[in-house]
Amino acid sequence: MSESGRAAVFVGTGKPFEMREYPIPEPGPRDMVVRVCRANICGSDLHLWRGDTNLMSMGVTYGIVLGHEMTGEVVRMGAKVRGDSLGRPLKEGNRVVFSYYVPCDRCQACIKGCSHMCISSLMSPVRSCDMAPHFFGGFADYYYVKSRQSVFKLPEGVDTAEAAGANCALSQVLHGLEKANLSFGETVVVQGAGGLGLFACAVAKDMGAKKVIAIDGIPARLELAKRFGADETINIHEVADGRARVARVMDLTGGWGGDVVVEVVGRPEVVNEGIRMVARGGRYLEMGNINPKHTYKADPSLLVGWNRSIIAVSLYPPDVLPRAIDFLERTRGRYPFDELLSNDYSLEDIDQAFHEADALSGSGSGITRASIVPELSLSAAKPKDQQRDQPQGVA
Ligand SMILES: [Zn+2]
Ligand SMILES: [Zn+2]
Repeated sequence: MSESGRAAVFVGTGKPFEMREYPIPEPGPRDMVVRVCRANICGSDLHLWRGDTNLMSMGVTYGIVLGHEMTGEVVRMGAKVRGDSLGRPLKEGNRVVFSYYVPCDRCQACIKGCSHMCISSLMSPVRSCDMAPHFFGGFADYYYVKSRQSVFKLPEGVDTAEAAGANCALSQVLHGLEKANLSFGETVVVQGAGGLGLFACAVAKDMGAKKVIAIDGIPARLELAKRFGADETINIHEVADGRARVARVMDLTGGWGGDVVVEVVGRPEVVNEGIRMVARGGRYLEMGNINPKHTYKADPSLLVGWNRSIIAVSLYPPDVLPRAIDFLERTRGRYPFDELLSNDYSLEDIDQAFHEADALSGSGSGITRASIVPELSLSAAKPKDQQRDQPQGVA
């Protein structure tokens, strides 16, 4: 193994990534270092890259390593690491998934048992990669896992590519739908059929939703949404008027609306339309709008008169991630998880990956998740069937 690794460093909006080389760190006694197998470009990475979130105003010093939705293989373990967060034996070479935030364990949220709400949680964008151990984000050859992060060994039957979406998109929607108290036999509307939205369709079905309606503007995504469990789809270009879309949802639900309406578009302008789709006593699950100061004009009577509520969630508690992995294993073959990742790129091609993910996400080409695979050699993106790794130990 070479003694150093590359990191694609983000130095500011509009600037190309800088490829830097850092020594592979020796982990602290309870920490570990993983080799990144793949790191997906999540919507929030695109927000940061575009500058939708003003990192400078949040005191962030460039350069930083973006990327948090990922999976890797343990290459160096601290002397005191005995197993994963469920106590299962772990050794170098094992594939793992892990929560991408580092709670402090020393704040009111952490002592309440809500480490995902930690007041001083560390995530990749808030740590300059000039500091050791450098590998704070997923768009690099390595990632440094602190002892306070939850780590789970991947079962042999779960493909590395399928698992890469588990620690952000899948865990996020699983936690959100649970917080929104989705109950057996209820109806779910999903605004936005990207990575989170597609997982939301499948998880909602698995939780017993009677009907799932997916809304998006990209026909290929809507087709995929059906294969992820959506019973009905609405193309926003075919039903171009917001009120008509609300009427369509009401039609499809016998005039009732969605018991849970999930916002994973990430734009405030969809919120009022989404709330109008919520049934009496229903819940609007807000997860996509993460950018401060992107606002919408609110009419509180839309909530009060219908006994609707808004549930907002960010991140997820540690117990969600192993259940997300269990879901992937248990429902293998039922949903086309491998089709969530539409385009693979080498680390060197990260600029191209971001530009294409950004441009294509609104163009109708159907891109869902672009994924950075550091071990791909210097080349343009290859067709994904030539790159995809097979599950280990499965014939
Ligand atoms: Zn994410
Ligand atoms: Zn804390």
